Amino acid sequence: MSFSQLGLSAELLRAVSEQGYERPTPVQKQAIPVVLNGKDLLAGAQTGTGKTAGFTLPLLQLLNETPNAPASKRMVRALVLTPTRELAAQVHESVVTYGKYLPLRSTVVFGGVGITPQIDRLRKGVDILVATPGRLLDLVGQRVLDLSRVEILVLDEADRMLDMGFIHDVRRIIHLLPRKRQNLLFSATFSDEIRTLSSQILHAPVEVEVARRNAPTELVTQMVYAVDRDKKRELLSYLVGSGQWKQVLVFVRTKHGADRLARQLERDGINCAVLHGNKSQGARTLALAGFKNGKVEVLVATDIAARGLDIDQLPHVVNYELPNVPEDYVHRIGRTGRAGSTGEALSLVCQEEIKLLAAIEKVLKREIPRMVAPGFEPPFSLDTRNANQTRSAPSRNSQRTNEPSSRRNSQTPQGRWYGGPPKAGNAGPKR
Ligand code: AMP
Repeated sequence: MSFSQLGLSAELLRAVSEQGYERPTPVQKQAIPVVLNGKDLLAGAQTGTGKTAGFTLPLLQLLNETPNAPASKRMVRALVLTPTRELAAQVHESVVTYGKYLPLRSTVVFGGVGITPQIDRLRKGVDILVATPGRLLDLVGQRVLDLSRVEILVLDEADRMLDMGFIHDVRRIIHLLPRKRQNLLFSATFSDEIRTLSSQILHAPVEVEVARRNAPTELVTQMVYAVDRDKKRELLSYLVGSGQWKQVLVFVRTKHGADRLARQLERDGINCAVLHGNKSQGARTLALAGFKNGKVEVLVATDIAARGLDIDQLPHVVNYELPNVPEDYVHRIGRTGRAGSTGEALSLVCQEEIKLLAAIEKVLKREIPRMVAPGFEPPFSLDTRNANQTRSAPSRNSQRTNEPSSRRNSQTPQGRWYGGPPKAGNAGPKR
C-alpha cells in the first residue's frame, strides 16, 4: 500500500515523499483512514512505529480541509499533549515537516525555558499547538490561549503522561475543551488506568494496536549479561570498545548514578554526555545534538529524561541497571529498532537484580538469551526460577558465552513488521 491510497492530499504526499518514506507503516495504514473519517482513535503504538506521522498527517489534512477562521487569535484548533519537552519538540518538528506545503500555523510550548517568547508566538495566532501539560496550563492562566474551540485533541504517550503524574493536569485541560471534538489517544501499553482514561475521554473510539501489548518491537535483539555489580562499568567500556559502538544509549536509575558513570566512562576514553532531569534545557539540547551528530558515543540517561527521544537508527541500548518497573524495560528498548532498522538491547544484570529480570521476562512472556563476556564471568548464574515461582522454568541452555544471540536460537526475535531484512553486522559485540 502506498501513501496516496490512504486518501492524503497532494501537499502532504509531497512532504512525505521528501522525507523518503516509501510506504506507510502499520500504524499509519490503520490510523490515517480512521482519523480522516473524523472518528476517535485509541492506538496502541510505541515510539518507533511511525505513530507521529500516523496522527500528524490526517490532522493536518482535516484542519486544511475545513478552514475555520477563528473568532479570536487566541483560539487553537488542534492540541497535541505530550509528557516531555523532547517529545513535544519532536512532534512539532513533524508538524512543520509534514505541513510544509499547507498554510497552517503551529507552535510548541513546554516548561524549562522562558515563557515570554512562547506568549509572543501564541499572540500571533496558531492552528496547531503542541504542548506539555504544565506549561500549557500556565499559559491558559496568563490568558494568552483559548481552548474552547479545539477541534482535535491528541494525547501522545498517554501511559507516560500518567506515569509522570500528569493526570490532574490532563483532566483540567480536558475541562477547557469543547464537548464536541475528535480525540486521538496513543499509548505504548493499555493498562487499566489507560482504559479508564480513554473511556472518559474518547467517544466510540476505533482501536488499533500495532505492537503486542507490553511487547517490544520485533526488530530488537535482546540479551542479558550476567556480571558482578562492581564490574559493570568495566564491562560496558569493554563492550563499547571491542564492538566499536559509536552510538549507545545507556540507562541508569538515578541522576547521581548517571553523572558518576559518565565520569568513569570519560576516564576510559569514551566520549559521553548525560541526560537527566537536573540538566538545563540548553545542556539537554547540546547533549542530544552531540549524540545525534556522532561526537558523543555514549549518552547516559535516566528513564524520564530519555522518554520520547527520537534518534534515527539508534543501534545500541544498554540497561546498565534494570528498571524497577518491568514496563520501563519495554520503553527503554523501544529506543532502538526504530522504523525500518534493527537494534540491539543489552542488559547488564548483577545478582541483586535477578528478581527484576524475572519480572521483566514475565511481562515479555519469554526468556532473554544469557551472555557472559570472557574475563567477566560472575560467580552466579542468572537463574530466575527461584526469583519468581509463577513463571515457567527457563531453558537448560540459558547460560552461554559471548556468542551473538541472533545467530543462535529460536528465542531471538527474528520477525519483522516493517522494512527489509535485518542489517548484517548488527547482531552482537564484535571481537
Ligand atoms: P515515531 O514512532 O513517530 O517516533 O517515528 C519513528 C521514526 O520513523 C521517525 O524517525 C520517522 O521519521 C520514521 N518514519 C515514520 N514514518 C515512516 C515511514 N512511513 N517510512 C519510514 N520511516 C518512517
